[in-house]
Amino acid sequence: MSLFLDTYDVIVVGGGHAGSEAAAAAANMGSKTLLITMNLQNIAQMSCNPAMGGIAKGQIVREIDALGGYSGIVSDTSAIQFKMLNKSKGPAMWSPRVQSDRMRFAEDWRLMLEQTPNLDFYQEMVSGLIVSNGKIVGVKTSLGIEVKAKSVVLTNGTFLNGLIHIGDKSFGGGRAGERAATGITEQLVDLGFDSGRMKTGTPPRVDGRSLDFSKMIVQPGDENPEKFSYLDITKPLAKQRSCHMTYTSPEVHDLLREGFDRSPMFNGRIKSLGPRYCPSIEDKINRFANKDKHQLFVEPEGWNTVEYYVNGFSTSLPEDVQFNALRSVAGFENVKFFRPGYAIEYDYFPPTQLKDTLETKLVNGLYFAGQINGTTGYEEAASQGLMAGINASLKVQEKEPFTLKRDEAYIGVLIDDLITKGTEEPYRMFTSRAEYRTLLRQDNADLRLTPKGFDLGIASDKRLKRMEEKHSKAENFVQFFKDTSVKPEEINPILESKDSSVMKQSDKMFKIFARPNITIDDMRKVASVNDYIIDNNLDNEVIEQTEIQVKYSGYIAKEKNNADKLHRLEYVKIPENFDYSQIKSMSFEAREKLKNIQPTSVAQASRISGVSPNDISVLLVYMGR
Ligand code: FAD
Repeated sequence: MSLFLDTYDVIVVGGGHAGSEAAAAAANMGSKTLLITMNLQNIAQMSCNPAMGGIAKGQIVREIDALGGYSGIVSDTSAIQFKMLNKSKGPAMWSPRVQSDRMRFAEDWRLMLEQTPNLDFYQEMVSGLIVSNGKIVGVKTSLGIEVKAKSVVLTNGTFLNGLIHIGDKSFGGGRAGERAATGITEQLVDLGFDSGRMKTGTPPRVDGRSLDFSKMIVQPGDENPEKFSYLDITKPLAKQRSCHMTYTSPEVHDLLREGFDRSPMFNGRIKSLGPRYCPSIEDKINRFANKDKHQLFVEPEGWNTVEYYVNGFSTSLPEDVQFNALRSVAGFENVKFFRPGYAIEYDYFPPTQLKDTLETKLVNGLYFAGQINGTTGYEEAASQGLMAGINASLKVQEKEPFTLKRDEAYIGVLIDDLITKGTEEPYRMFTSRAEYRTLLRQDNADLRLTPKGFDLGIASDKRLKRMEEKHSKAENFVQFFKDTSVKPEEINPILESKDSSVMKQSDKMFKIFARPNITIDDMRKVASVNDYIIDNNLDNEVIEQTEIQVKYSGYIAKEKNNADKLHRLEYVKIPENFDYSQIKSMSFEAREKLKNIQPTSVAQASRISGVSPNDISVLLVYMGR
């Protein structure tokens, strides 16, 4: 008798960051879901740095949380340090980041999934897909077990034909200590998919007891830490663990260079492209030969472990070269290794083969999410998993698909970039990729997305109520500033003390508060002279939201206006299988690209490289617009 008697609505293959979010979303939407992964001990394992968030990635985690995904909650429960990055810049750039307890992160994810209804688990390698008449009908495992499903989400990460490199040694593996996954790439290629190879690397992990932290610079967390989740499941951290910073030196670089002839990167054994913005240490000293030092961040791996992650020292050089060079870094003179750094090459599938729902164009009901799509990073993977899980579920339930536009979420930018432009090197998110970043802030992800998550059935009633309360309190507060006038004699002493130009006649408080150096405390003083009281118990989130809406109202309005203009083309839909070959007045390159990518809207068509504004005009005329 088979272990699996039922047909699942959704099977998720792989329990990494993408797979965990996909499984949670599908199950929470009422789909009977099975998560099959090679090792149930390693659910949402952090393969590389023990941290979540950071620039643009922090915004993504908040978006996942706002929609009802789990990454934000788990990031909070397992955090050992919190920092809001870029606080000195405008709010579009503020990016939350936590240092995580690696083991606790994986444990908490598994606990969250075990508490999710409709979700079954199975540990084994999926070695093949069952496809019938261009439609997915199930998966096959390495033991030969067949499990039937109406849809399948593949989230294989770095495991597909993974090949690990350390110096001149290489061996199969999905990440250190885990075997590679085989069978799936070959079958997908037979089905007509294009595949490619990418690479990434990770630094050594070392024993903190062997380090001399007195030679390094302490990097504490924020004095007033915040958190990721908009829900109040956890409180901000009461205590935190510090990181440390140190530097490489010319001596360290010379020692590293000694191993270049045995480096798989320099002797040509690794041919695939790695993440440009997360280069290995050998890459850095090679590319920036005139720099005599590089920063290294020494990050604890958890609350109770002595293991440390050497951020900035990612390498695939031989282990003896890594060790020798690291011993010349200040504070590392007596370093003991827990694990050497390594690089890994793996298969990915160019994401232009996907629809905007992350369903493949070739096989009905088959979805791809995460590193398999050529991205890098936990946050990028988790957000795709969430979207694939949602859409797989919606499809099975015969409901309309769910997509996010570029002005609605970083997740929308990410997916649109992937399916429209594709990627030939590991894709990571940056704020600069988003043209509407003043709208896509970390502080307002709940306002943007929680109502959508609620409609989908994954954001709870409690989450929606919290969002609505914050929204209405902030709106009222903004209105108060718009409605209330102040006289010059009431405000000028404060303005003078702030070196801000004085007022000659009465004006609205909104205008004063909009000035960059005027704070909420100044406003409280003005309000009190004016016989108004600003509630002292107002939530910090409400105050922050109000302040941003007042101080950045001009920028926000301008971006909204630009986004509205773009929507006009977003709503001009292109029918499926549209025949571009008929449009002879369009450039050949544009016709080929459009035929290949099959954009769903004219706006998406306009973002494809090689499609010019003139091609778009021709397309619009052809479509009778
Ligand atoms: P993963 O987290 O890799 O999870 C894949 C899961 O699928 C695993 O649980 C695996 O067991 C399972 N699986 C795979 N195939 C099968 C199968 N056939 N059957 C059943 N289960 C299967 N990101 C950065 O942002 N910066 C970095 O510097 C960086 N460096 C990295 C270095 C290394 C060595 C590695 C391995 C990863 C690195 N990453 C880095 C990438 C980061 O780990 C990934 O982006 C992220 O984990 C991808 O999430 P995912 O869910 O797509 O895949």
